[in-house]
Amino acid sequence: MKFARPEEECGIFGIYNHKEAANLTYLGLYALQHRGQEACGIVSSDGQNLFSHKSMGLVADVFGNPDIFRYLPGNSAIGHVRYSTTGDSVVKNVQPILVNYSRGSIAVSHNGNIVNSQLIRAELEAWGSIFQTTMDTEIIVHLLAASKSSSLEDRIIEALNRIKGAYCLLFLTETRMVAARDPHGFRPLCLGKLGNSYVVASESCALDLIEAEFIREIEPGEMVVIGKDGVTSHFPFKKEIPAPCIFEFVYFARPDSFIFGKNVYQVRKELGRQLAREHGIEADIVIPVPDSGVPAAMGYAEESGLLFEMGLIRNHYVGRTFIEQAQSIRHFGVKIKLNPVREILKGKRVVVIDDSIVRGTTSRKIVKMVRNAGAKEVHMRISSPPTSYPCYYGIDTPNRKELISSSHTIEEIRRYITADSLGYLSREGLMQAVGGKAGCHCHACFTGEYPIQFPRLGPEPQLDLFEKEPLL
Ligand code: AMP
Repeated sequence: MKFARPEEECGIFGIYNHKEAANLTYLGLYALQHRGQEACGIVSSDGQNLFSHKSMGLVADVFGNPDIFRYLPGNSAIGHVRYSTTGDSVVKNVQPILVNYSRGSIAVSHNGNIVNSQLIRAELEAWGSIFQTTMDTEIIVHLLAASKSSSLEDRIIEALNRIKGAYCLLFLTETRMVAARDPHGFRPLCLGKLGNSYVVASESCALDLIEAEFIREIEPGEMVVIGKDGVTSHFPFKKEIPAPCIFEFVYFARPDSFIFGKNVYQVRKELGRQLAREHGIEADIVIPVPDSGVPAAMGYAEESGLLFEMGLIRNHYVGRTFIEQAQSIRHFGVKIKLNPVREILKGKRVVVIDDSIVRGTTSRKIVKMVRNAGAKEVHMRISSPPTSYPCYYGIDTPNRKELISSSHTIEEIRRYITADSLGYLSREGLMQAVGGKAGCHCHACFTGEYPIQFPRLGPEPQLDLFEKEPLL
């Protein structure tokens, strides 16, 4: 089953004014690989022309041959990692998008999802625009090209004023780099400095790798223009209540990153502590589902006083379970990725911590795996509330049919995953652990309260648990 949405999880990186621009962008993308593993690309500028290399595959594979960097000259570059839908349009959908138009060349990298893209696209097509890709990002370049404004800044502002949704964007022209974050600030974006060079990245872990100094996060609704005269900041968009994505904290961002004013690792640990307060149970050990469940499991163990153990060992050379789009491969995926340590689990009452249950496939396999390894009891604890609603702002949560908790009670899910008990963190507990004022994050995947309305396509069919075949 594939999820036909135009744009999903992505990471962006850019550097201005560095003689190793493309090389450093490669490293930056490497640090952001967790945000998208299907495709990646870099566009560089030598001040006169833009140069591009992009392909399907992991960063290390696409840019593994050092000769590639000879064809990416210049002192500025932007890059992109992408988790895309499958289909014949995949290769041309790889970003950054690079176009030539009446005012020169421009490249763009986008993380997020534009919710009114179909409407704008239809309008542009009616005016004669010919689209090269199926990406929502492409409408931005069409809007830019159609703008009558004389400055680049105004053209970008005009284009972005037309679009709604989640976007962190990086534009590169021959002489400038522009970063923009949507007024809700759904996805993270930060600004750094490396000597005399400026760096923009989805997450601070990318700055760390290239030893750039973290300056600050780019604000919701901010546009940062970087040129030979330095950095200028603008707030040209209508102000909105910020709604940074809470799922970045729960699962998506890297734990060593600093996003939305907080370190992700510390937030996840606090989620685990709160989970222990809400769903404590008599047990012998706490084990994480690695890697995403590790900080929460440490927090849970700390709060409950139970012993933390690595009862499941992860094969680090297998990508995220989700990369496998076919249900049948996903079933194998969990087993390929994780193996239990029998000596640790045998005869124990085990609390297993994961960050989320989406379809239930992973939890079901893990409970069975831990039990088969000799555990006496298996208690599943989830460091977020039930994921019941799809995300339209850039996280690849499937449609409601595939989200187990959209159509099943916690008791039904417990029975499906065959755990002795199942506990999810409450919504209040999540908000408390993440901190900040109530309602200052987007939590639509848990509550269905969407900060920007999205056209609903009528009721979706319910998930039939018996469609799922146990292959373990
Ligand atoms: P599932 O087997 O479908 O229930 O997926 C649950 C697993 O997927 C959990 O271990 C999560 O860490 C992970 N996960 C949750 N959300 C996502 C996402 N948007 N993309 C990739 N993996 C995810």
